[in-house]
Amino acid sequence: MAETADVVVVGAGVMGCGTAYWLSRAGYQVLVVEKEAIACGASGMAAAMLEAAGHGARLDLDDPLAELARVGFALHRELASILPEESGVDIGYRENPVLHPAFTEDEVAALRPRALELHLAEPEITWLEGDDLWQLEPRLNRQALGAMVAPQAQVLAYRFVLALARAAERRGMVMRHGEVVGLERQGARVTGVRLRSGETIAAKYVVLAMGPWSGQVEAWTGLRVPVYPVRGQLLELRVPDPQLNASIVWQGMYLVHKADGITLAGTTEEHDSGFVAQPTAEGRQAILEAALHLAPSLEAAEIVGQVAGLRPCSQDRLPLIGAVPGWEELYLVSGHFRSGMLLSLISTRIIADLILTGQTALPIAPFDPGRFGSAEA
Ligand SMILES: Cc1cc2nc3c(=O)[nH]c(=O)nc-3n(C[C@H](O)[C@H](O)[C@H](O)COP(=O)(O)OP(=O)(O)OC[C@H]3O[C@@H](n4cnc5c(N)ncnc54)[C@H](O)[C@@H]3O)c2cc1C
Repeated sequence: MAETADVVVVGAGVMGCGTAYWLSRAGYQVLVVEKEAIACGASGMAAAMLEAAGHGARLDLDDPLAELARVGFALHRELASILPEESGVDIGYRENPVLHPAFTEDEVAALRPRALELHLAEPEITWLEGDDLWQLEPRLNRQALGAMVAPQAQVLAYRFVLALARAAERRGMVMRHGEVVGLERQGARVTGVRLRSGETIAAKYVVLAMGPWSGQVEAWTGLRVPVYPVRGQLLELRVPDPQLNASIVWQGMYLVHKADGITLAGTTEEHDSGFVAQPTAEGRQAILEAALHLAPSLEAAEIVGQVAGLRPCSQDRLPLIGAVPGWEELYLVSGHFRSGMLLSLISTRIIADLILTGQTALPIAPFDPGRFGSAEA
């Protein structure tokens, strides 16, 4: 007999496990199907910096992600103590400021007014220069002319996904191994998924959380899903004391000290990587140069690891969150690119709300999975 569940979630990255978390909490029987292992993709190795203002180093006020980032950041704060209790997993949550330094007059001219503008909406965001800045982060390169300072939280990526899954499992979620290769339907209504093994799993709702592999959904649904992999690499550094107080983010590169004692230096943004998740010598060089530019005293750090992951990036760089047009009870959550950890709780909460109540109070029109049209077109 075919397995059944209220909800089948495809993919056990942060989006799949987040969806399972909220729906299990609401009493649904959830089954997560994963083709490799929990958090085996970007979700298990991300830097997992959670910054409402700079999500993925975008600082524009009118960014369509701004509201989602703000609410998503607040949700992380809310769950910071609840999730470890529910799961028994220490997620390494901590709050520390993030600096966005400016090294040239042009950078100051772009960043300072933005900091002051953002300050009006979020008083914790400020602009610092000179001694005030060095006091906050003595390791920051003294060539910095100033920096925007914003609040930031962070988690340990793999542990965070594990905690979401464990908390869901304690409420009855089941995770199983298998590769989904198609959908089952009756008329417009999805009725389950089909696995490569030939098995089917029946479900009332199906949520597709397949990260950079989401393009496969085109063949299953007829919907155009232009999501592709963008490799990102990180260096893991062991830094002699004192550790960084603040994270430092500049031109998409960054340094962040994590709760496990490691400092992560990132990153690359390789749009032509395909599905190759191996780190490269070129990536290592670029990250090292940026790290030493941001904090020259890190010359004394030891490189203890180099990792790479594939971010799911959509054609317009915005996520796809919501119901799949032309189908009933089929949902997609993908394409979160550089902000998937920050936006994980809010994006998956939206999916859960759509399943539970058919609506969400958040402005999700820019993230409509139907916005790219049909695959044939
Ligand atoms: C170097 C790096 C640093 C990052 N830093 C940050 C950061 O600081 N802050 C932040 O917010 N974000 C960050 N991100 C981005 C974030 O990691 C991603 O946006 C997020 O993890 C994407 O999650 P996902 O669940 O959509 O995809 P994934 O993690 O890729 O998960 C998808 C899962 O689906 C499974 N799957 C796919 N197809 C199938 C199928 N047919 N059947 C069964 N299973 C399937 C895959 O095996 C995989 O486990 C970073 C990413 C990288 C690479």
